[in-house]
Amino acid sequence: MSERLKKMTVEIKLKAKSEIDLISQEKSKKEEDPRVFAWDMRFYQRSINESRIKFSHQEWKQHFSMTNCIAGLNLVCGSLFGISIKEVPMGAESKVWHEAVRKLQIIAPQEGLVSTVYLDLFARSGKDVQPSNEIIQHAKVDINGKLIQPSTFAINTSFVPSLEGANLNFRDLETLFHEFGHILSFIFLRNQRPGNAPFSLLEIPPILMEKFVNDYRVVSTFAKHEKTGKILPKEWFDSAKETYSLFKNTEKLTKIALAEYDIAVHNLRIIGRNTSLMLQKINENTLPIPHLDGTHFQTQFMHLGPYGSSFYSYILSEIFADHAWKKHFENDPLNRKQGEKLRNEVLSLTGLKDPFEMIKLYIEENPDKIME
Ligand SMILES: [Zn+2]
Repeated sequence: MSERLKKMTVEIKLKAKSEIDLISQEKSKKEEDPRVFAWDMRFYQRSINESRIKFSHQEWKQHFSMTNCIAGLNLVCGSLFGISIKEVPMGAESKVWHEAVRKLQIIAPQEGLVSTVYLDLFARSGKDVQPSNEIIQHAKVDINGKLIQPSTFAINTSFVPSLEGANLNFRDLETLFHEFGHILSFIFLRNQRPGNAPFSLLEIPPILMEKFVNDYRVVSTFAKHEKTGKILPKEWFDSAKETYSLFKNTEKLTKIALAEYDIAVHNLRIIGRNTSLMLQKINENTLPIPHLDGTHFQTQFMHLGPYGSSFYSYILSEIFADHAWKKHFENDPLNRKQGEKLRNEVLSLTGLKDPFEMIKLYIEENPDKIME
């Protein structure tokens, strides 16, 4: 795996260098020193994005009300798995932690209610900013596998609300679908918990779910303007995708550096070692910008600590999800036959079955070949 990362790093480094050059050019318009440091990244990336985007954010968001986004989830999950997702009033039996929380019910044709999902999506003071999904109550099944207690989940994100209200931008929509992908695994796993195996590929379903909102054929079915009912123009959608992927190689390199670190701490006895120095060395060998002395990123990034799927498997999940999308969904994204295949061969087994056996069956190819 580490060899694979090294190979990827060489390929991506060159492309990332030109992305950093772009940031350097932008910086030189405002500052004398054009060298790019970690603290410049977000600011100048945003400024470049804003100069290239072909729509107004307010107009964009008017196509992505929560009602529309829930309709999008319903459309994708209904087409693929035959389940329906609907928002319901909170009801007296639901004691929620904040008035902004919304409640969804997931209904399967034979069983009725299989799950309740609480959405707490918008930022407020004191709220955790890291997107997450939580199991509030596991499903229960009897000895014949009949569902006797539906599961309950919560999705937590800190999207920035717009002046128009609770509407989402492109990245928010991706995040909502990503977190919902995790929940789908939990729903189809029933009363079984996905394992904390060192190599579980838990991120394949959520990364696949993101791909549905990166496809205009899918998004155009629900992204309708709140007032006029007009569908989101394709030109805007293409502009958002292009602009938000301008720095994708730099992002990939950051993920590769963290995966290298993750492998290092898995393979070594780290008691007594300085993990900040380990990460610094990896960053210096991998990233196109200088490491920030005195920082300890590994201590605050949840994916490197208590998370069930180790971070290096995130990169593999991306590779396999890309492959699965091209093979099974690209021609016909909302294909029920492929949805059932995804459900039976991945969602119902993620974390339970040997991940390489699982993926081999699903993509119908040798995973080693794909990783080459
Ligand atoms: Zn995830």
